[in-house]
Amino acid sequence: EPAVVLEDVHFGYGDEPVLRGVSLTVPVGSRTAVVGPSGAGKSTVLALLEGFMDPDAGVVRSLGHDLRDVDLDSYRRHVAYVEQGAPALGGTLAGNLRLVRTDATDEDLRRVLGAVGLDGLIARQDAGLDLDLGDNGSVLSGGERQRLAWARVLLQDPQLLLFDEPTSSVDSATESLLGLALDEVSRGRTTVIVAHRLSTVVTADQIVVLENGRVLDVGTHTELVERC
Ligand code: ADP
Ligand code: ADP
Repeated sequence: EPAVVLEDVHFGYGDEPVLRGVSLTVPVGSRTAVVGPSGAGKSTVLALLEGFMDPDAGVVRSLGHDLRDVDLDSYRRHVAYVEQGAPALGGTLAGNLRLVRTDATDEDLRRVLGAVGLDGLIARQDAGLDLDLGDNGSVLSGGERQRLAWARVLLQDPQLLLFDEPTSSVDSATESLLGLALDEVSRGRTTVIVAHRLSTVVTADQIVVLENGRVLDVGTHTELVERC
Protein backbone atom coordinates (compact mmCIF):
# COMPACT_ATOMS: atom_id res chain seq x y z
CA GLU A 1 0.00 0.00 0.00
CA PRO A 2 1.31 3.50 -0.82
CA ALA A 3 2.04 5.80 2.12
CA VAL A 4 -0.51 8.36 0.97
CA VAL A 5 -3.50 8.12 -1.36
CA LEU A 6 -5.89 10.94 -2.16
CA GLU A 7 -8.90 9.77 -4.16
CA ASP A 8 -11.01 12.39 -5.91
CA VAL A 9 -10.80 14.74 -2.93
CA HIS A 10 -13.10 17.74 -2.85
CA PHE A 11 -12.75 20.37 -0.16
CA GLY A 12 -13.86 23.94 0.48
CA TYR A 13 -13.46 26.16 3.54
CA GLY A 14 -16.92 27.57 2.91
CA ASP A 15 -19.04 27.53 -0.21
CA GLU A 16 -15.98 28.25 -2.36
CA PRO A 17 -14.41 24.98 -3.56
CA VAL A 18 -10.63 24.86 -3.01
CA LEU A 19 -9.87 21.27 -4.06
CA ARG A 20 -11.97 20.04 -6.98
CA GLY A 21 -11.29 16.34 -7.32
CA VAL A 22 -7.64 15.85 -6.39
CA SER A 23 -6.14 12.36 -6.71
CA LEU A 24 -2.53 11.53 -5.96
CA THR A 25 -0.39 8.68 -4.67
CA VAL A 26 2.82 8.86 -2.65
CA PRO A 27 4.77 5.57 -2.57
CA VAL A 28 6.57 4.65 0.67
CA GLY A 29 10.05 6.15 0.81
CA SER A 30 9.52 8.55 -2.08
CA ARG A 31 9.49 12.30 -2.45
CA THR A 32 6.49 14.06 -3.93
CA ALA A 33 6.47 17.77 -4.62
CA VAL A 34 3.25 19.71 -4.99
CA VAL A 35 3.79 22.85 -7.04
CA GLY A 36 1.49 25.53 -8.35
CA PRO A 37 0.57 29.18 -8.01
CA SER A 38 -0.43 30.80 -4.75
CA GLY A 39 -3.99 29.87 -3.84
CA ALA A 40 -3.91 26.60 -5.84
CA GLY A 41 -4.70 24.56 -2.72
CA LYS A 42 -1.22 23.20 -1.92
CA SER A 43 -1.25 23.99 1.82
CA THR A 44 -4.78 22.65 2.01
CA VAL A 45 -3.51 19.27 0.79
CA LEU A 46 -0.97 19.24 3.65
CA ALA A 47 -3.61 20.25 6.18
CA LEU A 48 -5.85 17.37 5.02
CA LEU A 49 -2.87 15.01 5.40
CA GLU A 50 -2.52 16.13 8.99
CA GLY A 51 -6.18 15.44 9.58
CA PHE A 52 -7.01 19.06 10.40
CA MET A 53 -10.18 18.69 8.40
CA ASP A 54 -12.07 16.00 6.49
CA PRO A 55 -12.68 16.14 2.74
CA ASP A 56 -16.19 17.11 1.63
CA ALA A 57 -16.00 14.18 -0.79
CA GLY A 58 -13.39 11.58 -1.67
CA VAL A 59 -10.92 9.76 0.55
CA VAL A 60 -7.64 10.67 2.25
CA ARG A 61 -5.64 7.57 3.22
CA SER A 62 -2.32 7.97 4.98
CA LEU A 63 -0.01 5.46 6.65
CA GLY A 64 -2.54 2.72 6.13
CA HIS A 65 -5.66 4.45 7.45
CA ASP A 66 -8.58 6.47 6.19
CA LEU A 67 -7.94 9.60 8.23
CA ARG A 68 -11.61 9.82 9.18
CA ASP A 69 -11.17 6.62 11.20
CA VAL A 70 -7.83 7.25 12.82
CA ASP A 71 -6.86 8.42 16.31
CA LEU A 72 -5.29 11.72 15.24
CA ASP A 73 -3.01 12.12 18.24
CA SER A 74 -1.26 8.83 17.61
CA TYR A 75 -1.30 9.36 13.82
CA ARG A 76 0.41 12.74 14.19
CA ARG A 77 3.21 11.21 16.24
CA HIS A 78 4.31 9.62 12.97
CA VAL A 79 3.98 12.80 10.91
CA ALA A 80 6.26 15.83 10.90
CA TYR A 81 5.04 19.16 9.53
CA VAL A 82 7.52 22.01 8.99
CA GLU A 83 6.33 25.38 7.77
CA GLN A 84 8.59 28.07 6.42
CA GLY A 85 10.18 30.44 8.90
CA ALA A 86 9.38 28.22 11.88
CA PRO A 87 10.64 29.87 15.09
CA ALA A 88 13.35 28.11 17.11
CA LEU A 89 12.17 27.64 20.67
CA GLY A 90 13.77 25.78 23.53
CA GLY A 91 16.46 28.14 24.82
CA THR A 92 19.58 26.23 23.89
CA LEU A 93 20.53 24.19 20.85
CA ALA A 94 20.15 20.95 22.82
CA GLY A 95 16.89 22.17 24.36
CA ASN A 96 15.46 22.93 20.95
CA LEU A 97 16.29 19.49 19.55
CA ARG A 98 15.07 17.67 22.66
CA LEU A 99 11.64 19.26 22.23
CA VAL A 100 10.87 16.26 20.02
CA ARG A 101 12.82 13.58 21.89
CA THR A 102 13.75 14.19 25.49
CA ASP A 103 15.81 10.98 25.66
CA ALA A 104 18.11 11.83 22.73
CA THR A 105 21.81 11.50 23.59
CA ASP A 106 24.34 14.24 22.84
CA GLU A 107 25.67 11.94 20.15
CA ASP A 108 22.21 11.78 18.53
CA LEU A 109 22.07 15.59 18.56
CA ARG A 110 25.48 15.94 16.93
CA ARG A 111 24.54 13.39 14.28
CA VAL A 112 21.37 15.20 13.16
CA LEU A 113 23.06 18.61 13.28
CA GLY A 114 25.79 17.22 11.02
CA ALA A 115 23.22 15.77 8.63
CA VAL A 116 21.68 19.21 8.00
CA GLY A 117 25.03 21.00 7.82
CA LEU A 118 24.80 22.73 11.20
CA ASP A 119 28.04 21.32 12.67
CA GLY A 120 29.35 24.88 12.81
CA LEU A 121 26.79 25.88 15.43
CA ILE A 122 28.35 23.52 17.95
CA ALA A 123 31.64 25.40 17.75
CA ARG A 124 30.03 28.84 17.95
CA GLN A 125 30.93 30.76 21.12
CA ASP A 126 32.49 27.54 22.45
CA ALA A 127 29.10 26.74 23.95
CA GLY A 128 28.72 23.35 22.30
CA LEU A 129 25.20 21.96 22.49
CA ASP A 130 24.42 24.56 25.19
CA LEU A 131 24.54 27.41 22.65
CA ASP A 132 21.87 29.95 23.68
CA LEU A 133 19.60 30.51 20.68
CA GLY A 134 18.08 33.74 22.01
CA ASP A 135 14.40 34.72 21.81
CA ASN A 136 12.77 32.49 19.19
CA GLY A 137 16.21 31.61 17.91
CA SER A 138 17.23 35.20 17.19
CA VAL A 139 20.96 34.32 17.02
CA LEU A 140 20.25 32.09 14.01
CA SER A 141 19.74 33.13 10.39
CA GLY A 142 16.52 32.17 8.62
CA GLY A 143 18.32 29.35 6.83
CA GLU A 144 19.82 28.07 10.08
CA ARG A 145 16.41 28.02 11.74
CA GLN A 146 15.03 26.04 8.82
CA ARG A 147 17.91 23.54 9.05
CA LEU A 148 17.37 23.24 12.78
CA ALA A 149 13.72 22.39 12.15
CA TRP A 150 14.89 19.65 9.78
CA ALA A 151 17.35 18.34 12.38
CA ARG A 152 14.35 17.96 14.72
CA VAL A 153 12.55 16.01 12.00
CA LEU A 154 15.52 13.62 11.71
CA LEU A 155 15.50 13.15 15.47
CA GLN A 156 11.76 12.51 15.51
CA ASP A 157 12.20 10.02 12.63
CA PRO A 158 8.56 10.19 11.48
CA GLN A 159 6.98 7.98 8.81
CA LEU A 160 5.71 10.96 6.83
CA LEU A 161 7.37 14.36 6.29
CA LEU A 162 5.29 17.37 5.24
CA PHE A 163 7.22 20.48 4.23
CA ASP A 164 5.44 23.72 3.35
CA GLU A 165 7.59 26.04 1.19
CA PRO A 166 10.77 24.80 2.87
CA THR A 167 13.26 27.03 1.06
CA SER A 168 11.28 30.09 0.12
CA SER A 169 12.05 32.36 3.07
CA VAL A 170 15.74 32.86 2.21
CA ASP A 171 17.69 34.54 -0.59
CA SER A 172 18.44 32.54 -3.73
CA ALA A 173 22.11 31.84 -2.90
CA THR A 174 21.14 30.33 0.44
CA GLU A 175 18.22 28.60 -1.23
CA SER A 176 20.34 26.26 -3.34
CA LEU A 177 22.42 25.27 -0.29
CA LEU A 178 19.25 24.70 1.68
CA GLY A 179 17.97 22.59 -1.18
CA LEU A 180 20.95 20.27 -0.73
CA ALA A 181 20.27 19.93 2.99
CA LEU A 182 16.63 19.25 2.21
CA ASP A 183 17.67 16.49 -0.21
CA GLU A 184 19.69 14.95 2.58
CA VAL A 185 16.83 15.10 5.09
CA SER A 186 14.21 13.71 2.73
CA ARG A 187 16.26 11.03 0.98
CA GLY A 188 14.59 7.65 1.34
CA ARG A 189 11.80 9.12 3.48
CA THR A 190 8.19 9.52 2.50
CA THR A 191 7.97 13.25 1.90
CA VAL A 192 5.44 15.69 0.54
CA ILE A 193 6.96 19.08 -0.25
CA VAL A 194 4.86 22.08 -1.17
CA ALA A 195 6.77 24.55 -3.31
CA HIS A 196 6.16 27.63 -5.37
CA ARG A 197 8.81 27.03 -7.96
CA LEU A 198 9.62 24.00 -10.06
CA SER A 199 13.37 24.64 -9.69
CA THR A 200 13.38 23.86 -5.95
CA VAL A 201 12.00 20.36 -6.50
CA VAL A 202 14.17 18.91 -9.29
CA THR A 203 15.10 15.87 -7.22
CA ALA A 204 11.53 14.85 -6.39
CA ASP A 205 10.41 11.40 -7.53
CA GLN A 206 7.22 12.98 -8.79
CA ILE A 207 5.88 16.49 -9.11
CA VAL A 208 2.16 17.12 -8.86
CA VAL A 209 1.15 20.34 -10.58
CA LEU A 210 -1.86 21.82 -8.84
CA GLU A 211 -3.82 24.73 -10.22
CA ASN A 212 -7.13 26.05 -9.05
CA GLY A 213 -7.77 22.93 -6.99
CA ARG A 214 -7.13 20.46 -9.81
CA VAL A 215 -4.16 18.26 -10.75
CA LEU A 216 -2.94 19.56 -14.12
CA ASP A 217 -0.02 17.19 -14.54
CA VAL A 218 2.12 14.62 -12.71
CA GLY A 219 5.66 13.66 -13.64
CA THR A 220 9.34 14.01 -12.94
CA HIS A 221 11.02 17.36 -13.43
CA THR A 222 12.46 16.19 -16.76
CA GLU A 223 9.08 14.99 -17.96
CA LEU A 224 7.33 18.20 -17.00
CA VAL A 225 9.98 20.41 -18.61
CA GLU A 226 9.77 18.39 -21.84
CA ARG A 227 6.02 18.80 -21.94
CA CYS A 228 5.95 22.58 -21.56
P1 ADP B 1 -1.64 27.46 -1.63
O1 ADP B 1 -0.98 26.73 -0.52
O2 ADP B 1 -1.55 26.76 -2.95
O3 ADP B 1 -1.22 28.89 -1.73
P2 ADP B 1 -3.98 27.27 0.05
O4 ADP B 1 -4.29 25.82 0.20
O5 ADP B 1 -3.27 27.95 1.15
O6 ADP B 1 -3.21 27.47 -1.34
O7 ADP B 1 -5.31 28.06 -0.23
C1 ADP B 1 -6.24 27.73 -1.27
C2 ADP B 1 -7.42 28.67 -1.17
O8 ADP B 1 -8.09 28.44 0.05
C3 ADP B 1 -7.05 30.14 -1.20
O9 ADP B 1 -8.02 30.82 -1.95
C4 ADP B 1 -7.10 30.54 0.25
O10 ADP B 1 -7.46 31.89 0.37
C5 ADP B 1 -8.18 29.64 0.79
N1 ADP B 1 -7.94 29.33 2.21
C6 ADP B 1 -6.83 28.77 2.72
N2 ADP B 1 -6.95 28.60 4.05
C7 ADP B 1 -8.18 29.06 4.37
C8 ADP B 1 -8.91 29.15 5.59
N3 ADP B 1 -8.39 28.72 6.74
N4 ADP B 1 -10.16 29.69 5.54
C9 ADP B 1 -10.69 30.11 4.37
N5 ADP B 1 -10.06 30.05 3.19
C10 ADP B 1 -8.82 29.53 3.19
P1 ADP C 1 0.35 31.10 4.27
O1 ADP C 1 0.86 29.88 3.55
O2 ADP C 1 -0.15 32.16 3.35
O3 ADP C 1 1.29 31.61 5.32
P2 ADP C 1 -1.61 29.30 5.37
O4 ADP C 1 -3.07 29.47 5.21
O5 ADP C 1 -0.94 28.24 4.58
O6 ADP C 1 -0.95 30.70 5.08
O7 ADP C 1 -1.24 29.06 6.89
C1 ADP C 1 -1.53 29.98 7.89
C2 ADP C 1 -1.01 29.36 9.18
O8 ADP C 1 -1.75 28.17 9.46
C3 ADP C 1 0.44 28.96 9.06
O9 ADP C 1 1.30 29.94 9.60
C4 ADP C 1 0.52 27.70 9.85
O10 ADP C 1 0.93 27.96 11.19
C5 ADP C 1 -0.87 27.16 9.89
N1 ADP C 1 -0.97 26.02 8.98
C6 ADP C 1 -1.34 26.02 7.69
N2 ADP C 1 -1.30 24.82 7.15
C7 ADP C 1 -0.90 24.01 8.13
C8 ADP C 1 -0.65 22.64 8.20
N3 ADP C 1 -0.80 21.82 7.17
N4 ADP C 1 -0.23 22.15 9.38
C9 ADP C 1 -0.07 22.96 10.45
N5 ADP C 1 -0.29 24.27 10.44
C10 ADP C 1 -0.69 24.79 9.30
